[in-house]
Amino acid sequence: MFVLDSHCDTPSEIIRGRNIGLDNPDAHVDFPKLRRGGVDACFFALYTPNTISEDESLRKVMRMLAAVQDALEANPDKAALATTPEEAQRLKEKGLTAIFLGMENALPLGKDLALLRFFHRAGVRYVTLTHNGDNEICDSAAEGKRWGGLSPFGREFIAEMNRIGMLVDIAHCSDKTFYDCIEVSSAPIVSTHSCCRALCDHRRNLTDDQLSALSDKGGVCQINFYPVFLSGQYDEEKDLNRPGIKEVVDHIDHAVNVAGIDAVGIGSDFDGIEVAPAGLDDISKIGLVFDEMARRGYSEGEIEKVAGLNFMRVLSDVARTSLFIP
Ligand SMILES: [Zn+2]
Repeated sequence: MFVLDSHCDTPSEIIRGRNIGLDNPDAHVDFPKLRRGGVDACFFALYTPNTISEDESLRKVMRMLAAVQDALEANPDKAALATTPEEAQRLKEKGLTAIFLGMENALPLGKDLALLRFFHRAGVRYVTLTHNGDNEICDSAAEGKRWGGLSPFGREFIAEMNRIGMLVDIAHCSDKTFYDCIEVSSAPIVSTHSCCRALCDHRRNLTDDQLSALSDKGGVCQINFYPVFLSGQYDEEKDLNRPGIKEVVDHIDHAVNVAGIDAVGIGSDFDGIEVAPAGLDDISKIGLVFDEMARRGYSEGEIEKVAGLNFMRVLSDVARTSLFIP
């Protein structure tokens, strides 16, 4: 089985000083935990908030990129950068964890398509269009007021993403932005870390209609482990009714029922969430999700799709349909 997590915020922790070569007691993600959990590939998100300036966000993203490169160089026996599914498979065969890069929030890119190309050349394979704020490209789920969806520049931005083979990630986008991306993108699009709104009515989660639209376009919804997105019953302040593995698999079940087995995967959001689901304290426990799927009657082939093959397929499709000859 090839296991891939499409969204961890570990670079933010690396620049705060975490040595991910070691097993850190309080960390969600480090190289020993990825190994223990049988995780073959993990996307490290270069995340910046919308609350800082464009210049500041660019500096921060560059610092995170450099810090991930340093961490990989310091741990050549544990992990290495991957930019394609084939590279990731080869790293698995060598006993190494494949680290992919994503960028969460296009704020650092401003209105400069050359920077988008620069980060693609540096290995970044998806861009989450925004975070909890509207930016030059689009409206967010949190605000959703500036453009009424994608901005005119956002449409150019998506066209350039399609051309160079950069995956469009609509997690954090407003509903209107979502549908604009469905219309504008010539390649499949994804949510790297969202859940199902039918089970938990949160603006960050996808409606059934969005799940179907994503699937029709050949994309995937990668289920998030954040308790707030998993259950409306969860009381964040008092930490009561914290959802666990059962609820994660409920969201997988629902997404599979609505969008099909080819359109669902895992994007834990570890290191970006303050609380983990009960029993899923860190990434080393990810296998419990697949055990629960097996208990619910999923076949080995179906579990393999959700565990990683679906997202790997989209990565290949987006690269193949690009027109970019580097
Ligand atoms: Zn996020």
